[in-house]
Amino acid sequence: MSAGLEQAATATANDAVEMTDGFHLVIDALKLNDIDTIFGLIGIPITDLARLAQSEGMRFISFRHEQHAGNAAAIAGYMTQKPGICLTVSAPGFLNGLTALANATTNCFPMILISGSSEREIVDLQQGDYEEMDQVNAAKPFAKASYRINKAEDIGIGIARAIRSAVSGRPGGVYLDLPAKLLSQTLTAEQGKKSLVRVVDPVPRQIPAPDSVQRALDLLKGAKRPLILLGKGAAYAQADADIRAFVEKTGIPYLPMSMAKGLLPDTHAQSASACRSFVLAEADVVMIIGARLNWLLSHGKGKTWGGPKQFIQVDISPTEADSNVAIAAPVIGDIGSCMSAMLAGIASGFAKPGAEWTGAIAERREKNMAKMAATLEKNPSPMNYHSALRAIRDVLKTRPDINLVNEGANALDFTRSIVDQYQPRKRFDSGTWGIMGIGMGYSVGAAVVSGLPVVAIEGDSAFGFSGMELETVCRYQLPITTIIFNNNGIYKGSDPNLNPKLKNDVAVSAFVKGARYDKMIEAFGGVGYHVTTPAELSKALTEAIAAGKPALINAVIDESAGTESGRLTNLNPKKGATKS
Ligand code: ADP
Ligand code: MG
Repeated sequence: MSAGLEQAATATANDAVEMTDGFHLVIDALKLNDIDTIFGLIGIPITDLARLAQSEGMRFISFRHEQHAGNAAAIAGYMTQKPGICLTVSAPGFLNGLTALANATTNCFPMILISGSSEREIVDLQQGDYEEMDQVNAAKPFAKASYRINKAEDIGIGIARAIRSAVSGRPGGVYLDLPAKLLSQTLTAEQGKKSLVRVVDPVPRQIPAPDSVQRALDLLKGAKRPLILLGKGAAYAQADADIRAFVEKTGIPYLPMSMAKGLLPDTHAQSASACRSFVLAEADVVMIIGARLNWLLSHGKGKTWGGPKQFIQVDISPTEADSNVAIAAPVIGDIGSCMSAMLAGIASGFAKPGAEWTGAIAERREKNMAKMAATLEKNPSPMNYHSALRAIRDVLKTRPDINLVNEGANALDFTRSIVDQYQPRKRFDSGTWGIMGIGMGYSVGAAVVSGLPVVAIEGDSAFGFSGMELETVCRYQLPITTIIFNNNGIYKGSDPNLNPKLKNDVAVSAFVKGARYDKMIEAFGGVGYHVTTPAELSKALTEAIAAGKPALINAVIDESAGTESGRLTNLNPKKGATKS
């Protein structure tokens, strides 16, 4: 046969055989694993991949910056125990998404960052390709795992591997690299179908060893002043009923970490939130469930923790125990399995802690709550964090199903302590890093996943990191109300310019005074409110939530309200110089 005839014969054969390609296989593999939403930002080489996802029935939420798409994916992962997917273009888009991937890994949120990448041969020889970058290696230190798929027949297994890596064990961020060429590679449809993998049992139960459970219960039973500490791992585990039953049956006072608020309602009689310092310092046995003894808990030592104490730590990661202080009773397993084993262990009874301990807590709690109530009652003019948050708290009390996103310095600290949560996984905040910039990304993710309203309480500085996503919020008509605590600056807006030669400059912490953030959302068709009193704030928030449409409330507060770095002033290094 001549070469020409041979070609024609192949073409005829190909015409008869149904073909598929990398684009279709990626979408088919995601759908096969019940992934129905992608957060991302299109461009070379993934534009058609996004289009295909949409035409194949997936939801594609387009953002203005990849970091926020990544944050949306991460919070979706936290809420659902399924990996949130973020899709980006190569090098710069990938790097923008990488911050979110690193944040997801740090917070133990399951997420997969999928990025297109440039020509392998050129990238590897560093010959200067369009958006050239070795993305797989760049992602490694920030991810739980980092993979590249080079052959279309590996797409099924590659995506299965990424899913399993993200959600099994301690969840985290996974990077998946899709070279442009991979997407146009073809296979017969039959080969393609066979290559797909539906992941069986992606989050396998991990049953704790019975002796570890017994050791923990023995320690707890011997305690005089026991305390339970709930972290966002406990909220993530979705073992809400068993955790509540354990807390209530043992009668042990508990403290929720910020994102564990609402796992039990903050108004619960056993909550020791109102006397946190007292219980941390005084407890003799502390049972930690899905929290790490990191900086947020003073690493389990020092003045915060007062006298000697013993720890029980329930966690899925076997290397978490002893990371900061000795753990007397590690219980390693998934929190659902651990808590049901613990519950079984106390089925025959548990002597609740004595009145000496619970009474001392109750007394302090009442005292501190009364003090806080008095502070909240005040109506200073201009309004401050407290009076504004009183108004917000009272509105949100009527809608316990609402998602709350929260970031800032003082805006974060005060909201966390003043606004109560009543349901699990409804509070999403700066988390393990204390990161700024999660606001609009988390809000979009939470609204899309839950179909319920979101209220984002933002410092004016924190909001700036993701403010452009207001357009995304308006484009998808999401029921998100953003409240900006506007005090004209970072920490506060009242600091002076320190350079006498540059008289027109302003302080390093200052923003434009009297900025009208409410006008920003109006530019995209949303509703803006400008409020200066708690009554106006209350009215605007009530109205915005009821409307279920994009809204922004510019809440003007005293520009000198708040403290530098919120409650983290101690983390600022001290100046050593005596002369400057
Ligand atoms: P917080 O910031 O609320 O203190 P952290 O993020 O520091 O919480 O800690 C969460 C912990 O929960 C991590 O150590 C993680 O390994 C653990 N974890 C996450 N999911 C599970 C799970 N399903 N079962 C057990 N432990 C989990
Ligand atoms: Mg501010």
